[in-house]
Amino acid sequence: MSDCLFCRIAAGSIPSQKVYEDDEMLAFRDINPARPVHVLLIPKKHISSLMSATAEDAPVLGRMLARANEIAVAEGSPDGFRVIINNGRVGQQEVPHLHLHIVGGPDPVGPMLKRI
Ligand code: 5GP
Ligand code: ZN
Repeated sequence: MSDCLFCRIAAGSIPSQKVYEDDEMLAFRDINPARPVHVLLIPKKHISSLMSATAEDAPVLGRMLARANEIAVAEGSPDGFRVIINNGRVGQQEVPHLHLHIVGGPDPVGPMLKRI
């Protein structure tokens, strides 16, 4: 059993509120939403962060970006959204499994670098 929190969520051994899933990615609601819409989109493959991503990971990362709008619209953010990826110590990443924060809702999300 992996001791990575998001690998365990991807495996279903820790419950989550899933909003999208396919063979290579999973989207689920953030447990502590910073905005009315706050979804985490992860690759099922363990990639710690963009600090360790390689060219081999580019296709799934591209498909994750291409899927973000559909997830945002379905969750209630039809007029745009923000994608944030925190990386490593300086990026203040807390969970070391690469994830896109998809944040939005009815209103603008606020200053660019406000903590998510
Ligand atoms: P990071 O700081 O690593 O970019 O973001 C980690 C995010 O994961 C935080 O927004 C936090 O609320 C969320 N999170 C942490 N543990 C869990 C969990 O067990 N379930 C869910 N759904 N979200 C979590
Ligand atoms: Zn993992």
